[in-house]
This record gives sequence, structure tokens and C-alpha cells, in this order.
Amino acid sequence: MKVDERLLRRHTLSVLEEKIRRCRKCRLWEGAMHSVPGEGPPDAKVMLIGQNPGAEEDKIGRPFMGRSGKFLNTVLKNNGISRDSVFITNIVKHKTPGNRFPLKEEISACKAYILEQMGLIKPKIVVLMGRLAWKEAPKMENMEYIKTFHPAAAMRFPKMRKKFESDIELVKGIMERL
Ligand code: URA
Repeated sequence: MKVDERLLRRHTLSVLEEKIRRCRKCRLWEGAMHSVPGEGPPDAKVMLIGQNPGAEEDKIGRPFMGRSGKFLNTVLKNNGISRDSVFITNIVKHKTPGNRFPLKEEISACKAYILEQMGLIKPKIVVLMGRLAWKEAPKMENMEYIKTFHPAAAMRFPKMRKKFESDIELVKGIMERL
């Protein structure tokens, strides 16, 4: 990708991040310290999508920073994927009270953001981590979707862990062929 185009995308992404920061479309912002828009290169080939940030992520405004994030980092690393090379985000961009599952209206309030992120970054591979991402991530052309477990579940249950690890291995395999 040309430098100018990359810069333009980076700029558009930062405008979107600002929009997410100021978002008042649902009430989750009231109980949050930070929004968590997501992070990664504006032209990432791989996008990982989780559910919503938890307490650790809320403290610093970055996705997957707690225990499940550490597990995710390890699985990526074991497969030779650097965390910096992928875009990581969530369907819902604020933490929920007591880490409860996001409500219908919270999910729909956030829907436009993931749509914009995917449309702008245009990843080749989209990894849907957990049932909220399976259900709510927009399905777009020219993207390959990999449906896997959420890292928080994968780190606890051996069968899920196996599937999660082999799905990330699959991501690596596809990346090598891109
Ligand atoms: N769980 C998620 O779904 N996303 C995060 O960013 C952290 C934990």
C-alpha cells in the first residue's frame, strides 16, 4: 500500500476513534473510564474481533490487556504472528457494568463502528472470537471469516483451547499465502 494511502487511512481511523470516544448513543460511557476502539495497522491483513472490553482494557483504553489478552498474545506468538501486525477490536467499544453480556441496544448502538473499521481496513481474514462476534460482525465481500472461541473461554476449557489454537494456526497459514 502507498504511503499516502496508509496515512490517509490512519487519519480516518483516528477520526473514527475520536467519534467512539465521544459516543453517547447508549449509556455504557457513563460507567467507563475509557472507550476501547481497537488498535493495529490501518492496512492490517487480519482483524480479530472480540466481545467488549473488561476492567483492564477500560483502565488503559486498549483491547485485550487482561488475562485473556495475555493468553491471546501467547497463542499469536506461538504461531509466529506479532500482535502489532493484526488489528484487534471488539463489537462493543465500552466495558459493561460487572462485565455482563452487552444488551441489544448497546450492541446496535455500536454496530456502525465495526462496520466502518472493517470497511476502512479491509482485512483479508476476520477472526470472530466468541458468540457475539459470530453473530454481530458484518459479513463483507473479499474477506475470509474464521469462527472461533473467545480467548477467555479457550484459556479455561481444553477442547476450546485446542480449537482456538488450531484456528490461529490456520490464520498463520492463510497469511503466508496472501
Ligand atoms: N474480552 C473481550 O472480548 N475484549 C477485550 O478487549 C477484553 C476481553
